[in-house]
Amino acid sequence: MSDTLPPRPEPRWTHVDDCFLDGRWTRSSATKRLSLVDPATGREWGSVPDCSAEDVDAALTVADRAFRTGPWPETTPAERAALLHRIADEIDARAAEMAVTNTLENGTPISETRGAAANAAGILRHVAGLASWLSDDDVRPFPAGGAESVVRKDPVGPCVLIAPWNFPINLMVVKLAPALLAGCTVVLKPAPGTSLSIRFVVEACVAAGVPAGVVNLVTGGGETGDRLVRHPLTAKVAFTGSTPVGRRIAAACGERLRPVTLELGGKSSAIVLEDADLDRMASVLLRTCLRNTGQTCYLATRILAPESRYDEVVDLVTRTVAAAPQGDPFDERTVFGPMASRAQYDIVCEYLASAHGARATTGGRPGPGLFIEPTVFADVTPDMRIAREEIFGPVVCILRYSDVEEAIALANDTSFGLGGVVFSADPAAAHAVALRMDTGSVGVNFFASNHNAPFGGRHDSGLGVEYGIEGLAQYATFKSIHRRTA
Ligand code: NAD
Repeated sequence: MSDTLPPRPEPRWTHVDDCFLDGRWTRSSATKRLSLVDPATGREWGSVPDCSAEDVDAALTVADRAFRTGPWPETTPAERAALLHRIADEIDARAAEMAVTNTLENGTPISETRGAAANAAGILRHVAGLASWLSDDDVRPFPAGGAESVVRKDPVGPCVLIAPWNFPINLMVVKLAPALLAGCTVVLKPAPGTSLSIRFVVEACVAAGVPAGVVNLVTGGGETGDRLVRHPLTAKVAFTGSTPVGRRIAAACGERLRPVTLELGGKSSAIVLEDADLDRMASVLLRTCLRNTGQTCYLATRILAPESRYDEVVDLVTRTVAAAPQGDPFDERTVFGPMASRAQYDIVCEYLASAHGARATTGGRPGPGLFIEPTVFADVTPDMRIAREEIFGPVVCILRYSDVEEAIALANDTSFGLGGVVFSADPAAAHAVALRMDTGSVGVNFFASNHNAPFGGRHDSGLGVEYGIEGLAQYATFKSIHRRTA
């Protein structure tokens, strides 16, 4: 398939040798480079510097200086909210270019990446609307009377924001927006393979008038990320990525007693109750269970079907997945693209090979290049690796249950706790099951995150939340000023 694809669109940037420090694109002192490879064709099309320890130090030094001096500490939440609106407008204006770069970077279908700018702009505008939470007077009486406390929400300081490759723009902006509104300064570190699409966000910040030193960008891999996390001037880390790396970051932050937000992996379940409307389920299945070729953290990749309707569910899921087009991510019709990288392809192949005893009702094999056949496994049992571990590829497993108690127990029998879905025609029954699922979010008959509601994982899926007031609060540090009342 990869040999027969039409020519790729031209991205704005290809090979760059700079990072963004103190309001300027600045030549990196890196001695090594990181390749950008189009996963649909296997061709290298760009590269970025693997930033050095000196680059990291420079980024945190300017972020710290901008946090303490200059115009930024003097701004009000309302002024910063106005800035977020301007950044949103500038991001909207770059939507088409961002989509091309993002799809070249990670193979996400263009129908999805075309919405990335609007999604990011929506987050910025929504967060801007939370400014009054920071600025409103919050005065609380002492219970015994005679005194009161003024509760302040101060910015936590220079923040390191680290994102993965699957949604490189959204997962950075969901950190950037609350950090800026709270009054923090930031150093951004995208995943190596998706280092260029975030330049549009930096460019939008500059065009919107973000002061020098407030937003900085370094590129690099795990070593660069580790240096940023451990840097003495880092006041907080916000990370989205895998659970093993999240644990290492949590340990480093624990050692230094620095706050950390971790959005990690998942293995979420879709519980299909006996009364579920399967046609309705089919209409949301691809987005709920396989979005972005299965490379999305909250996906319900374990479908738990009642014994009485098991064959019907397997048939429906199989037909829906088999009918979804796979191919060139630049083709408007494509639902399933390639895996984002060789490393991710190898991981998924290993899971396919491990699935002894499961029955592939469609797919089940690696395809050409970095493509994997979209796969549905039936007759999956809870002990199989494919039922327990995050695969992060176009693979769903269908398990059977005999009663609702067993379904809930199966859903909760994982080390993760990120998402989940309940399919039912009875809202009360679905809500009752949702209440008992041990995860940070549960959808009823669909799944989507809401800018207005906290999103985060329990257990091995993370620490802290993003979105909503609760997400903004992760960038504030509280101070109570006690005073006598007359
Ligand atoms: P990853 O953990 O390998 O890398 C994530 C980021 O961390 C990258 O920028 C990487 O360069 C950096 N990094 C690597 N080692 C580091 C270290 N020691 N210190 C600091 N930074 C380091 O994850 P990935 O493969 O890029 O992303 C896929 C994972 O992300 C999946 O597990 C997925 O579930 C998870 N994810 C979670 C959410 C969520 O909201 N919970 C959302 C999307 C993705």
